[in-house]
Amino acid sequence: MTNEKRKTGITPQANDMRALEAAAATRMLVAERILDYSGHVSIRIPGQDAFVIQIGAHSRAEVEPGSMLVVDYDGNVLEGDGQPPSEIPIHIEILKARPDVQAILHSHMELAIAFTMMEGVKLVPMRARASRWKSGIPTDPDPSHIKTTEQGRALAKTLGPHHAVLMRAHGLTLVAESAQALFIDAVHFKENATAQMQALQAGAKPLPLTDAEIEQIEKMEMRDWHIKKLWNYYVRKGLNEGVLPEEWSEPLIPSREMLTRDRTH
Ligand SMILES: [Zn+2]
Repeated sequence: MTNEKRKTGITPQANDMRALEAAAATRMLVAERILDYSGHVSIRIPGQDAFVIQIGAHSRAEVEPGSMLVVDYDGNVLEGDGQPPSEIPIHIEILKARPDVQAILHSHMELAIAFTMMEGVKLVPMRARASRWKSGIPTDPDPSHIKTTEQGRALAKTLGPHHAVLMRAHGLTLVAESAQALFIDAVHFKENATAQMQALQAGAKPLPLTDAEIEQIEKMEMRDWHIKKLWNYYVRKGLNEGVLPEEWSEPLIPSREMLTRDRTH
């Protein structure tokens, strides 16, 4: 990024890493068929009412950290040169409503949309990793694009304290504690929706995880380590397949220490 872009007093190095992780996550989400020609990832800048997000018109398959924008809660571009995505109220209103959230994905994942269009069917935690969504996966009733503050607030209200919200006939929004966690959650979200759809397509009645099963799963959970392990896998896969440029490998691949568990099961 150029020095000219750095006029907000935000630590450039930390912001560069946010821009890099947002770009990498976006490209990998395209490779996993979770993002396509639309949808976006945002990362909060701690201590500032601002976040990193891509230029709306840029291809999700080719986003670069150097072209990422820093945008404030009024939608003003503080750094970078371009227009943010038109559905930016999704990110602004959720970041305002949820101080615990550091990263947000909005996607038009087909499988997620399907679960907003079936009478009497609700997306529920089926696979073990879907215990993440044990509190529920609400559906926002607004089927249009989220372009106003009011719509963004309504979506944030539907999301409430949960980690995912489906959007009727439109898509979904996921929230997480980091860009890496967000990417891994998106992978597991898709796996879970696929599992439930397969059960439905087999003509069977889906058997979601029970509360007791979720409790048992969570006893064994090592979320931070699991995220690092999968991030390592997908970054390496992305590098090998040309999804990510080789020069991104050093800052993105977790170190050996980061991949060492502090306890075993
Ligand atoms: Zn959308």
